[in-house]
Amino acid sequence: MADKAGDEDIAIVTRQLGRFPRGMVAIGARCVCGRPLAVVTRPVLPDGTPFPTTCYLTSPEAVKAVSRVEADGSMQHYTDLVVHDETLRSQYQYAHRLYLAFRHELAARLGDSEEHIAGTSAGGMPVRVKCLHALIAQTLVMGHGVNPIGDLVMERITDEFNPKVCRCTTELG
Ligand SMILES: [Zn+2]
Repeated sequence: MADKAGDEDIAIVTRQLGRFPRGMVAIGARCVCGRPLAVVTRPVLPDGTPFPTTCYLTSPEAVKAVSRVEADGSMQHYTDLVVHDETLRSQYQYAHRLYLAFRHELAARLGDSEEHIAGTSAGGMPVRVKCLHALIAQTLVMGHGVNPIGDLVMERITDEFNPKVCRCTTELG
């Protein structure tokens, strides 16, 4: 919420997604160049649709890199880590709780109902790994050390996507 989305941000995110970013209330993470990478979306969209993916990945470069990881069969590997590695599992559950706490605060500030998304975070948390885009969006918004799977994926794609190295192609202005 600290980094409110301005007109220029809305224009860039619209280009990144190919559609208007409904319910976007803040920029969650930026590239070194300043372009948004992930945005914060309100719990209830303006048309009343409940929206659980509070941290939403918008960088096309990141989306592409993460999609490649998903397509190469890694999802089972990451789910196995959550299932079998006790330390990682408790970190993953913590990431889930932080996600819910973050959204709860947002909902309270905006006066949005959480009725239809109560207990639901994103990406398959807290027991599975279903969407790496959602997990890496949390990592971008909340930083390293929050979501263990997001951290692993971030390391893995660093040669293609890294918020500290601008590889953005979305036009400005
Ligand atoms: Zn950039």
